[in-house]
Amino acid sequence: MPLLNSIAIDGPAASGKSTLAKRLADALDYLFFDTGVMYRAVTYAVLAQGGDAGDEALCTRVAEGLDIDVQPASQTDGRQADVLIDGRDCTWEIRQPQVDASVSIVAAYPGVRQALTGPQRRIGLRGRVVMVGRDIGTVVLPEADLKIYLDASVAERARRRFEERRRSGKPEEFERLLDSIRQRDRLDASRDLAPLRPAEDAVIVDSDGKNADEVFAEMLALVEARQDAG
Ligand code: C5P
Repeated sequence: MPLLNSIAIDGPAASGKSTLAKRLADALDYLFFDTGVMYRAVTYAVLAQGGDAGDEALCTRVAEGLDIDVQPASQTDGRQADVLIDGRDCTWEIRQPQVDASVSIVAAYPGVRQALTGPQRRIGLRGRVVMVGRDIGTVVLPEADLKIYLDASVAERARRRFEERRRSGKPEEFERLLDSIRQRDRLDASRDLAPLRPAEDAVIVDSDGKNADEVFAEMLALVEARQDAG
């Protein structure tokens, strides 16, 4: 059974991409790489130095100079990986609501995308990787052997995120989460460069009304079908 080199998983905010992709990567013994953490790291670094997400030149400079390292999870506190910024563990800082609110503004800047897409592509080309984001199938790894676009209604996504935050002891208001996800989707889908959209050859998996095990089984079946076809 020939192995797939790379699997691209894209989709809107809070669609469960990273949880399911991590599970898939573990099942296949592939590297899991979530590109969203890089955009989050740049945004966090800009805000942490008192900068403004509206300052394109600053955001680009930060993206070009930042040392972002992603390592296997060193703790069992729910993290999927350790995210180090200039050597410091910022895994949870990059998930703060302030970062959620600004990351799509920062991710729309061409200079920021240019600084991050190259390293992402190099990681992807090493193979045996499940890579997650918004533009993996369209821009970062258009040659991926399997492209999945994971979708769900905005209400379902907000509900899942709400539960996730509640369980982790950092509850947020449902309406605020819903607004934040809507806003992010709008910005991600409408930007000029690498907008959020399924690649033409992506398989769209809609997770509405399905539990995580069902969606995972669907994804695994797609991998097996593609391996058998190859
Ligand atoms: O996936 P996650 O929600 O962590 O991504 C955070 C933000 O990073 C997205 O809303 C999007 O603006 C940006 N992003 C992107 N391209 C990617 C991954 C993430 O523009 N490949």
